Order: sequence, then structure tokens, then C-alpha cells
Amino acid sequence: MKHQKTMTDFKKLAVPGVRQLNPYIPGKPISELERELGIENIIKLASNENPLGPSPKAMKAIEKEMDELALYPDGNGFELKKVLAEKHQVGMDQITLGNGSNDVLVLLAEAYLSPDVSAMYSQYSFAVYPIAIQAVGAIHQMIPATTWEDERPLGCDLPAMKAAINEKTRMIFIANPNNPTGSFLHKEELYAFIKSVAEDVIIVLDEAYLEYASPEERVDGSLWLDEFPNLVITRTFSKAYGLAGFRVGYCLSNPEIANVLNRIRQPFNVNSLALAAATAAIGDEAFLARSMQVNASGMQMLADCCEQLGLRYVPSKGNFLLVDFGQDAMPVYQNMLELGIITRPVANYGLTNCLRITIGTETEMQRMVSVMEQVCG
Ligand SMILES: *Cc1c(COP(=O)(O)O)cnc(C)c1O
Repeated sequence: MKHQKTMTDFKKLAVPGVRQLNPYIPGKPISELERELGIENIIKLASNENPLGPSPKAMKAIEKEMDELALYPDGNGFELKKVLAEKHQVGMDQITLGNGSNDVLVLLAEAYLSPDVSAMYSQYSFAVYPIAIQAVGAIHQMIPATTWEDERPLGCDLPAMKAAINEKTRMIFIANPNNPTGSFLHKEELYAFIKSVAEDVIIVLDEAYLEYASPEERVDGSLWLDEFPNLVITRTFSKAYGLAGFRVGYCLSNPEIANVLNRIRQPFNVNSLALAAATAAIGDEAFLARSMQVNASGMQMLADCCEQLGLRYVPSKGNFLLVDFGQDAMPVYQNMLELGIITRPVANYGLTNCLRITIGTETEMQRMVSVMEQVCG
């Protein structure tokens, strides 16, 4: 059907927050680049996906689920919540499942934010926070990030965040490690910050990349849930567990917050294949260990390559590296596309000279390094 011109401005009819919303820009899909350039053997290092694919245990679990697809999923996600409760040593009533952790972030904004309160986040932090805040018309408090010269560049400036809290601040989003920069906060400073915040300000600690730090360096905020009733931890199966396509994530909170979120979530917000895959993936320690190992060595290759080419980067505890090309990064991005590698421009964050590069398999990183040398050498 052809689009009909109407007399009505439907954008104008939308609620005020939505009218001014800048939509999320995803990484370019492989199929799209194939169509555009007619090339094959494309590598996507643009969306922090797991280059090893999904956990084999997850794949096996969905096979069994296929016959049941005519039925609605378990709206309470009992099996998944049961293994999560065990893993995190929390009650099942402290878990909210989501269609990706993105879903949970949106639920938090819908449940707790409105035009008369504000939500805080750092400059250069996950693009979904401002979108979720904007959609409900709440006030943004974007706090400038630390500078390149800082000991931990382009990360949350916790003292500045603390100083900016006012009587309207209802929620604070912190990603640790942070995306798109990879910067991370240490346990002591993060703990002290959370402790210093009044209890009626909800702190959402987004730990999408938690698994990638070594056990000694890992900052696991879920251990603080008992102490801070205003703390919410979000986690995802999209990154280390390799299940981005299934869309499953969750948050841990006190039971009252979980109860509030449960009121507004869609009754079947996590599909049955995702539930089965995630439940099986949790127990796949071997897969997780292999993912960490591949990431660590790939990260080293890419960091070494940057050093050799004299490109600065943000030391990263995630599965990606933010690289500064010292010039507008778009031509670099284009050159890499033509050579079959999709990276992620971050100009929408104001980082016009940078690209975010996801760590791939060893073979993929070898190709990435040679493309970097070709494009930047
Ligand atoms: C990828 C990512 C998420 C999770 O996305 P899903 O919706 O779970 O796929 C959440 N937060 C950050 C910071 C991320 O980078």
C-alpha cells in the first residue's frame, strides 16, 4: 500500500517526551552490508556480541522447547528465576526478567520516572538510558565524564554525580563496566558512592559486561543488595552468554521494587526459547570460561595493534575497545566496511574521532589488525 499524505501531523500528536526522542542507532547488520557492497566474509565487530555464538547447552535446550511453541511461555519464568536465585543467593521475588536487560531498564523508567523528577547518567554511557528517560518525559541530568587525561578516562565522575544530586533526582544509571567506553569503577569508590546516596534515589547498576573482568577485578554489585534497598542490578544474557538474539536479561532488587516492575511488564515479556536457552546457559561454565579467554587474548591483540599505530584507547574491562583515530572516524569506518569489517561509530555520543570495536575470535582479530594497519598505517 502506498503511504498516503495526511493533513494530520502524527508526530505532533505523540506525547511530549517521544516527540523529542532520538532513536537508538544499532550496529550495521551483516546482511545489510552484504546487500550494499555485494561482498562476502563480513565480520561484525559492532554490537559486543559473543563471537563464539550461543552456549551449546542453550542450543540443546531450545530443541526440546520447539514442540511447545504453540503455548504461551511461563509468564513467571519459574525455572530461570530458580537458577538465578541460586546463583545470586537472592529470593525469587527479587528477580525481574526482561526481553533483554533493555526491557528492564525501560520498566524502571516507566515505573519510577515522570516529568517532575530527574534521572542521572554519565556522558558517554549507554544510549538506552537517555532514551528511556526521554520516553517518559523525565528530566535528564547528564554529568560530564572524566577526561582522556584521567586515571580512568571517559568514565563516570562519581564525585560530580554525587554533587549534582538534588531533590528531584529519582534515579541514577551507572554501567560498570561502561559501554561504549569500556571504563570501569573500582569496588571501593562505587561502594562509597552508593552508601552516600539517600535511600529514595534508586541506583541502577548495569552490569552487562561484569563477566569479562577477572574474578579479582570484578565488581559484583549484587553482593550489596541486602545493604542497599535502593540498589537495582541489571544483567544480561546478550554478551558473555552469547544469547543476544534471544533477548533475555533481568534485574535484581529488593522485593518491593520487583513487585512494582511486575505490575507494568508485559505478562509474557520473555519468550519460551529465551527462557530455556538462558536457564541452560547459566550452568555452562566451560563456555563462559572459553568466552573470557578468547576475549582476553583478542583484547591484547587489538590493544597491541593500537600501541603500534600510536592510537590511544580506553583501557577496557568489557568485550570491546574504544579507539581514538585522532581524526573524524567516519572515513576510517567506511574504509573498514569496504574491507568487510563492521565496527561501531560513536559520533552519536559526541565521540566523533572514535570507533568502538568488539573483540572477535582469534582469526577475526588477526584480520581486524591487518585492516587497521592497512587503513591507519
Ligand atoms: C548490551 C548492553 C545491555 C544489554 O542489552 P540487552 O537488552 O540485554 O541485550 C545493557 N547495558 C549495556 C551497558 C549494554 O552495553
